Amino acid sequence: MTKKQKKVLIRIIISAVLVVGFNFIPVENPYIKLALFMIPYLIIGYDILKKAVMGIIHGQVFDENFLMAVATVGAIVLGEYLEGTAVMLFYQIGELFQSYAVGKSRRNITALMDIRPDYANVEQDGELKQVDPDEVEVGSVITVQPGEKVPIDGVIVSGSSTLNTSALTGESLPREAAEGDEVISGCVNMSGVLRIRTTKEFGESTVSKILDLVENSSMKKSRSENFITRFAKYYTPAVCIGALALALVPPMVNLLLGNPAGWSDWLIRALTTLVISCPCALVISIPLSFFGGIGGASAKGILVKGSNYLEALSQTAYVVCDKTGTLTKGVFEVTYMEAADGVSKEELLEAAAYAENYSNHPISKSLKQAYGKPIDPERVTDVEEIGGHGVTAVVNGRRAAVGNVKLMKKLNIPYLEPEKTGTEVHVAIDGRYAGYILISDVIKDNAKAAVLGLKSAGVKQVVMLTGDAKKVADAVAEELGVDVVKSELLPADKVGEVEKLLASKDKKEKLAFVGDGVNDAPVLSRADLGIAMGALGADAAIEAADIVLMDDDPEKIATAINISRKTLRIVHQNIVFALAVKFICLGLGAVGTLNMWWAIFADVGVMILAVLNATRALKYRQ
Ligand code: ADP
Ligand code: MG
Repeated sequence: MTKKQKKVLIRIIISAVLVVGFNFIPVENPYIKLALFMIPYLIIGYDILKKAVMGIIHGQVFDENFLMAVATVGAIVLGEYLEGTAVMLFYQIGELFQSYAVGKSRRNITALMDIRPDYANVEQDGELKQVDPDEVEVGSVITVQPGEKVPIDGVIVSGSSTLNTSALTGESLPREAAEGDEVISGCVNMSGVLRIRTTKEFGESTVSKILDLVENSSMKKSRSENFITRFAKYYTPAVCIGALALALVPPMVNLLLGNPAGWSDWLIRALTTLVISCPCALVISIPLSFFGGIGGASAKGILVKGSNYLEALSQTAYVVCDKTGTLTKGVFEVTYMEAADGVSKEELLEAAAYAENYSNHPISKSLKQAYGKPIDPERVTDVEEIGGHGVTAVVNGRRAAVGNVKLMKKLNIPYLEPEKTGTEVHVAIDGRYAGYILISDVIKDNAKAAVLGLKSAGVKQVVMLTGDAKKVADAVAEELGVDVVKSELLPADKVGEVEKLLASKDKKEKLAFVGDGVNDAPVLSRADLGIAMGALGADAAIEAADIVLMDDDPEKIATAINISRKTLRIVHQNIVFALAVKFICLGLGAVGTLNMWWAIFADVGVMILAVLNATRALKYRQ
C-alpha cells in the first residue's frame, strides 16, 4: 500500500468507528446529532466534496464526485445522517480498493518488465565505478558482472557467459555469448564477467525502447475505452436530470391531484438513484482489463503498443506471414555450388560474401558464414541492395551482382537452371555469369504448430507471402498447412497482396501481417495490425510494428490472439454486468423499493466484482 492509500484507510477506520459509536448514543436534539455526525462525514468526505466543488468551478460538473456530494449532502439535509455518512464511507472503501488493484497490476507489469538497469560499471583509473547508464557514451567499455543486467546494447570485447533473456522474451532458455557477439540490454548475465563496448546510447538501447513502449501503451485507447468515456459524458448528466425530475415531478403531480406531496420521500428516492447510477465500475474496470491484458502479454514476451491493438487483435480473421525469418529460421545453409567455366567455387563464394558484406538479409548472413573468413570492407564499394532481387557491389574493382533469377533477368545475364531445389543465389562478375549457390532454409520446429494454433484461435485464413522461388515456397506451404501461398513477390507486391485482402474482407475482420522486420516495414504499417517477431536484434521492427514478439517463436501469434480474446471477454462481461445491475437498481430505486443502503452496496459491490474480474486479464495460461 502506498502512503496515500494508508492515509485513506486510516480515515475510513476512524470515521467508521465514530459513525457506529454515534449511532448508539441516544441524542434527541437534532442539531447536536448533526454536529456529531458531521465529524465522521467530513473526515471521510472532505476530499470528495472539494473535488466536486473544483469540478463545478472548472465547468466539469457531472462526475462521480458530484454525484456522491449531492447524494450525501441531500441525505444529511433530510436528516438521514447515518445514511449520508455511510454512503461516503463505502464509496471511499470502493475507491481505495480500486486504487489498490490498479497499483497492483501496474507493479505486476513493472515486475514482469524488470529490465530497467540502475547503473553501468565503467572502468576509471583501474577501478570499476557505477555510473548512470544515461551518461555512458557510445563506444565506451562497460563491465557486466554475473548477476547484473546488461544496461546498454553493445558487442562483447572480452569474456564469455550465458545470458538469461527471460525478462525480454518470457522464455527461460539461456543464450551463450562470447567475444565478438552482440548483446542486448535487458538480458541478465548469469555466469562470467563480460566487458562490452557499447554500440548505442542508453536512450537508444533495446531496454529503453521497450520500456518506453510499455509505458506509453495506455495512451492508445481502445474503442471500448473511448465508448465508456463518451458514455459517461452523457450518462452522468442524464442521470442527474432524471433524479431531479424524480424529486420534483411526482410530488407536483400529487399536489395537483390534491394528495399530500411527499417531497421528502421522493427526494430520498432521487438521491438513491444518484448513488446507484455512479458509473465508476465501468470507468475503472475497462482500462484496468486492457492494462492487465497488455501486462499478461508482456510476461510472455509479447509487447502490445496500445489497448486499441489488443482490441483489434481479438478480431483477427486473416494472418498474413512472411516466410523467411518468420515461419522459417532464416538461417540458410549452403547445400550446393555450381561455378561457371573459368571460375572456381572459392571465387564464387568470395564474390558473393563480399558483395553481401553490408546487407543484413538472412541470405547475406549465411553466405558470409559459409565463406568463413574475415571480410576486408575496404575491398567493397558502391553497394546497392535491391529489395526482392539481391545486391550489386564493386568487389576488388569488379562489378559483382548477387541475387535471384529476377536480378539476373534484370541485368540481362543468362543463367544456369539448377536441378536441385533450394533458394538460388546467382552470381555475376563484370556482367558475366559466374555460377550459382544453392542454399536452404529450415522450417522452424514449431511453425506447423503455430499455424494450427492460429486455426484453433479462430483465424479464418493463414496466408504466406514470400519473395522466394515458387518451388521452395510451395514446399514450405504444403508442409505447414497454410491456406494460401504467394511467391516470387517484391516487397511492393507484398503490399499489393495485403491491400487486395484488406479490400475483400469484412470491415469487422482484422488482418494481421507478421514479419521479421527485415525489409517488410511497408507491409507492417499497411496491415490493420503489424506484428514483428524476433525483435531481439532488429530494432527497426520495434518501431514499425504495433505488436512486437520479442523472440522468434511463431506460436506466440496465437498466444497473443488468445490473450486479446480473453481480455475482450472480460471487458464485455464487465460492461454487461455493471449496466444490468445499474439499470435494475435504478428501476427499483425509482419506485422506492430500494433504500440507500442497498444502493451503496450495489454500487460498491459491482465495482469490486468488476475490478476483480478485470485483474483476471493479467493471468493467461495455455
Ligand atoms: P522473403 O522474406 O519473403 O524471403 P525478401 O523480400 O526478403 O522475401 O527476399 C526475396 C528474395 O529476394 C529472396 O528469396 C532472395 O532470392 C532475394 N534477395 C533479397 N535480398 C537478397 C540478398 N541480400 N542477397 C541475395 N538475394 C536476396
Ligand atoms: Mg523477409
